[in-house]
Amino acid sequence: MAYVDEVIEKVIKENPSEPEFHQAVKEVLNSLRPVIEVNEEQYRRDALLERLVNPERQIKFRVPWTDDKGQVHVNTGYRVQFNSAIGPYKGGLRLHPSVNLGIIKFLGFEQIFKNSLTGLPIGGAKGGSDFDPKGKSDREVMAFCQSFMSELCKYIGADTDVPAGDIGTGAREIGYMFGQYKKLRGLFEGVLTGKGLSYGGALARTEATGYGLLYITDELLKCHGQSMEGKTVVVSGAGNVAIYAIEKAQQLGAKVVTCSDSTGWVYDPDGIDLAALKQIKEVKRQRLSVYTDYRPNAQYHEGRGVWQIKCDIALPCATQNELGLEDAKQLVANGVLAVAEGANMPTTIEATEYLQQSGVLFLPGKASNAGGVATSALEMSQNSERLQWSFETVDSKLKGIMVDLYHHIDDAAKKYGFNENYVVGANIAGFEKVLDAMIAQGII
Ligand code: NDP
Repeated sequence: MAYVDEVIEKVIKENPSEPEFHQAVKEVLNSLRPVIEVNEEQYRRDALLERLVNPERQIKFRVPWTDDKGQVHVNTGYRVQFNSAIGPYKGGLRLHPSVNLGIIKFLGFEQIFKNSLTGLPIGGAKGGSDFDPKGKSDREVMAFCQSFMSELCKYIGADTDVPAGDIGTGAREIGYMFGQYKKLRGLFEGVLTGKGLSYGGALARTEATGYGLLYITDELLKCHGQSMEGKTVVVSGAGNVAIYAIEKAQQLGAKVVTCSDSTGWVYDPDGIDLAALKQIKEVKRQRLSVYTDYRPNAQYHEGRGVWQIKCDIALPCATQNELGLEDAKQLVANGVLAVAEGANMPTTIEATEYLQQSGVLFLPGKASNAGGVATSALEMSQNSERLQWSFETVDSKLKGIMVDLYHHIDDAAKKYGFNENYVVGANIAGFEKVLDAMIAQGII
């Protein structure tokens, strides 16, 4: 049996209740075959892939907090420090009821390659909790964040592990966590990214993932004789990534006609009203159903449905496995040109394969949403320098990173004979640097 297959089998056997982790491992390892096969015996002897798929450390802890009525609740906190071969651990904290160890492991595993692709010295990690900030008062969110950080602070630091935001962890949560870290450790250091501008945050971090997604999509299109100008774009999600993807797509001359949240979706044939969307989601924290109060010509539907709308470009920006095979068939039937992932693993493996076989240009999230973590690493640089760069400086570095990243994955795909397969290109390009570093550092 091929070494890659042996390791996939072991991962499934040893982690039976972690389907998202299996999916991520299969997707990555299958595309690494050309690199592994060259040196299969040595890698098997050195258990290289076993070391890659087993986190260096995983921490699971109790998070007790008291609600406004005096009731104590207990959530579970996680931090999976996956791989530090090329730099300190870096990756977000997800606060969502669906969080479990398997989800955090899939995200942490993907993060290794994504972080490597940015070209910056950051290792891979992820964390979070099954706590749901929705519907909680500010005081309850603070109580949770302080309790969460009281334990997490023992394992992180500016040079060891630097968490960031993710679903459910925005500027408010990062602020409460940073405050608690500083109080407990007595250190004002760049231990978290996504901080507020008044205490070490980076300009353009809020926009970075969405903007970066559009910078790389634009470069992909340019290299295929196209541009964003005049394109119809379908976006899912209405959170941080979706909002700034919509903003940059509009700036580049495209028309974005959809967005969605976990209860429903909006179709606005005249183009999404970004000011209204920001007001609903960033200021008032409301459901998307109120969008039609701002735009009477738009339609609101319960459930899922954005992928049935005809478009040139599709940008899934909500959550994992939100674009399945039937959705992919619908997109292809409607003539989609490119799909670029803003979220982490939003497209199922079957849907990805169908899109690629149908000639759709497909950018995987570990490449196309890397702008967020890249800018987080730029926030770390600014914190180390005790300086704050201008918005324009950060934005232009972000653009440079995303354009380089596109060419890096395109070159890797071509080098191994997988022209235009950016999934293979991203996995190989991300892996090669980690592989070099792991080999150089010996069996650890
Ligand atoms: P947010 O929490 O800001 O927004 C998430 C959006 O997706 C919301 O509109 C939310 O709806 C919707 N959503 C969440 N879970 C589900 C679900 N189970 N079903 C349907 N819709 C859902 O998160 P972000 O925008 O920050 O993150 C979105 C994705 O991008 C995630 O996969 C994240 O890991 C990834 N990512 C984020 C980065 C960042 O910098 N923020 C960086 C790289 C990747 P509702 O409003 O109802 O909650």
